[in-house]
Amino acid sequence: MIKSLLIANRGEIACRVIRTARKLGIRTIAVYSDADAQALHVREADEAVHIGPSAARESYLVGERILAAAAQTGAEAIHPGYGFLSENSAFAQSVIDAGLVWVGPNPASIDAMGLKDAAKKLMAQAGVPVTPGYMGENQDPDHLAAEAAKIGYPVLIKAVAGGGGKGMRLVENPDAFTDALASCQREAAASFGNDHVLIEKYILSPRHIEVQVFGDKHGNVVHLFERDCSLQRRHQKVIEEAPAPGMDAATRAELCASAVRAAKAVDYVGAGTIEFIADGSEGLRADRIWFMEMNTRLQVEHPVTEEITGVDLVEWQLRVASGEPIPVSQDDLGIDGWAMEARLYAEDPAKGFLPSIGKLELLQFGESEGGRIDTGVYEGAEVSPFYDPMIAKVIAWGQDREEARERLSDMLSDSAVWPVKTNASFLVKALEHPDFVAGTVDTGLIGRDGEAMAQVPQPSTEMLEAAAAALVPAYGTPGLRLNAAPVRKAWFLLDGQEIEIAIGEGSDDPAESVLVTEQGQAWQLTPWRREGVHGAAAGSGAILAPMPGKVIAVEVEAGQTVIAGQKLLTLEAMKMEHTLTAPFDGVVAELNAAAGQQVQVEALLARIEEAAKEPA
Ligand code: ADP
Ligand code: ADP
Ligand code: MG
Repeated sequence: MIKSLLIANRGEIACRVIRTARKLGIRTIAVYSDADAQALHVREADEAVHIGPSAARESYLVGERILAAAAQTGAEAIHPGYGFLSENSAFAQSVIDAGLVWVGPNPASIDAMGLKDAAKKLMAQAGVPVTPGYMGENQDPDHLAAEAAKIGYPVLIKAVAGGGGKGMRLVENPDAFTDALASCQREAAASFGNDHVLIEKYILSPRHIEVQVFGDKHGNVVHLFERDCSLQRRHQKVIEEAPAPGMDAATRAELCASAVRAAKAVDYVGAGTIEFIADGSEGLRADRIWFMEMNTRLQVEHPVTEEITGVDLVEWQLRVASGEPIPVSQDDLGIDGWAMEARLYAEDPAKGFLPSIGKLELLQFGESEGGRIDTGVYEGAEVSPFYDPMIAKVIAWGQDREEARERLSDMLSDSAVWPVKTNASFLVKALEHPDFVAGTVDTGLIGRDGEAMAQVPQPSTEMLEAAAAALVPAYGTPGLRLNAAPVRKAWFLLDGQEIEIAIGEGSDDPAESVLVTEQGQAWQLTPWRREGVHGAAAGSGAILAPMPGKVIAVEVEAGQTVIAGQKLLTLEAMKMEHTLTAPFDGVVAELNAAAGQQVQVEALLARIEEAAKEPA
């Protein structure tokens, strides 16, 4: 067995590999870029080597720097994780040429599966059913259009070198073909340096079913059953599970045998995944499942397979790379229960899933029996703009699908991240969608119903009232009469928006603001000293800074007439933007703010005077 291992990756997968290496007594070496100097994988490894600037193409993607780091630390082996250099056969070869152990398949196997067209041809020869389509050399647009017509619409144009859900165009009819082809080729050339495409029949009611395979250097290949990754957003996996809902034993046996044939056809060594597309319109049937591509590496969603089989796939990778045979035979492998994984991302569903960057001031994961969190960050760490903004993979195991689903939903609901936004509530809504509950998901579900899932929830009234009560002493209690009903109204800012809450008696533990966490979301609640609120009938027009911060934009001028809800200015505080709006129709009577100005909490930024009522 190897004694030391360099992990040529970052984030959760680097931490995942370190965990198993440590269990096996292997010395671990991390590599890191400028942005990752404080990253979790650096902290968890026995040693860490700086390999360059933050941009991946100047650090994690530079093979020579990684080899130099291995030489410098005396690392015996290199694990590439997923993404980055994991499917780069030239890098794999250079690792082997340097006399190191490559924890992955032979470079020739990577090459054989590297381009989707060549891989499909090879698989067809090996007797694996492949998705019908054109995978020829002739890239003449007229020829491709004729092939598309032969296949029959709708078709999918795919970059042969594509990956990560990029470089694909669904074409519904012949009129749209030429433009779709040109745009796909442009994207393919820019993203993958190769503009060749293939054309596939677009499978209707599509389900993504994949099989985990494993080979060793002694010619053994086993499978570890299937995963269902049909819940996708823009061809990218969102929730994965194992086994696949509705898979019967005979279909499973046939599918998994195909996958083993596929792996054997390329003399596969190590962990790999054969991805299939299934027409799920009449359930899963072996004659309606076709090979799509092979990923010649450990897959993001490998934990669900680990959870149902009890196998540590990274341990197998390290043993097999060290020359040991696969520790068990096919007959020893079985499925126990059900597992589901959700990819928790630092992104804002309300803003088209844009990455949400910044410091994780609050990072809390829900817990559950059978729960597992694979993460690469910690509370206080930064989500940087340089890499994939995944916060964690949240994984739940249960006796059956329903138990796994409920546990995963609870874990996500009980998670709280702030001020970075996450897709947690989106994931919970996806898990609770009737089609998901029924196990009849196709890859188009989010495209059809995703808008409702992306709606960001508001905290419940009960939660807000309790939170507000905790803030009350700091707020003062004018107007609260002894012996009166202990309920009154008070004003607060919830993420910069003024709200009114009925509160009971306050606690003795005053605070300036509290974080309200519920439904996988976190909101900041701050007392809002709305001038004249207590006693005065009309609301005051004082626009106060809700927290210390910087004015980044002023939208109005002194003397200007404004209407209720009109944007007055934007304040940046605690890494978030707060828009302050006019509370009612009126005139900007006072303006004390300019862009760029730092302001203290409750500074009077502007004052709106109510418009004089027209006599009736
Ligand atoms: P899979 O097919 O295994 O589910 P995906 O294609 O969804 O994987 O994700 C792999 C992608 O993850 C890579 O293409 C890359 O963009 C990204 N990636 C690579 N390394 C990391 C990492 N360490 N942490 C997060 N994301 C990564
Ligand atoms: P990538 O390399 O980007 O992962 P894949 O070929 O694996 O590309 O396809 C990604 C996703 O696109 C699949 O998981 C599936 O949802 C969808 N897809 C791919 N091919 C087809 C097809 N022929 N019909 C329907 N959907 C498809
Ligand atoms: Mg794929």
